[in-house]
Amino acid sequence: MSIAENISAIRKNMDAAARAAGRDPGEILLCAATKMNDADAVRQAIAAGVDCCGENRVQELTQKLSRNAYSGAPIHFIGHLQTNKVRQVVGKVDLIQSVDRLPLIEAIEKEAARQDIVQDVLLEINVGREESKSGFYTEEIHQILEHFHRFSHLHVRGLMAIPPICQHPGENFRFFQEILQLSVDIKRKKYDNVETECLSMGMSDDYADAIACGSTMIRVGTAIFGARNYAKPHL
Ligand SMILES: *Cc1c(COP(=O)(O)O)cnc(C)c1O
Repeated sequence: MSIAENISAIRKNMDAAARAAGRDPGEILLCAATKMNDADAVRQAIAAGVDCCGENRVQELTQKLSRNAYSGAPIHFIGHLQTNKVRQVVGKVDLIQSVDRLPLIEAIEKEAARQDIVQDVLLEINVGREESKSGFYTEEIHQILEHFHRFSHLHVRGLMAIPPICQHPGENFRFFQEILQLSVDIKRKKYDNVETECLSMGMSDDYADAIACGSTMIRVGTAIFGARNYAKPHL
């Protein structure tokens, strides 16, 4: 199947999942997770109507930006971001989804202030408390947000999460529901500089479950582009 055919199949599934949950399909965005896929594949996905692209690695982002690969769609950063690479990302992307620790918040603040811009971000939650993953723990997040008025060059738009890999269908539900609940709690507190309209959760294998639990943005790679080929040059 072509990239366009894959995207149209995903759109149908998204619509069905939204309707089954009594939600408006129009409120859920499809982000193409483009890692390991070249500029041409990215262009095909944009032409087929994805709402935005998400890139994981700074080097790939920089190369594809220089090739105008994302032209026509917003570009998000969704991978682990080292503080020494913040300069290559802040102001270059519409949204940094993977803000996962306080030193990174401080580094983005400093760089955005230097550029005199406000950078939109999501805070990443380590919902499964996995050592292999980064992100804030649920109980840390309020403490971080209480001090967010200090970070006037960041604007929090919501939360992002990558739940643990699950073996059985539906196992993910409790993680997605925990994220949704956290988002509702944050909204209720009305922190300065903090919005909760975006809930980025759900990938190729579990996006229907994520939509059932309130996701407003799914990040899909494999189901759009096919299995990633780590041997093939991808830039
Ligand atoms: C790769 C990636 C995805 C997409 O994963 P698939 O299972 O290929 O759909 C989503 N989010 C992040 C952060 C990723 O790195």
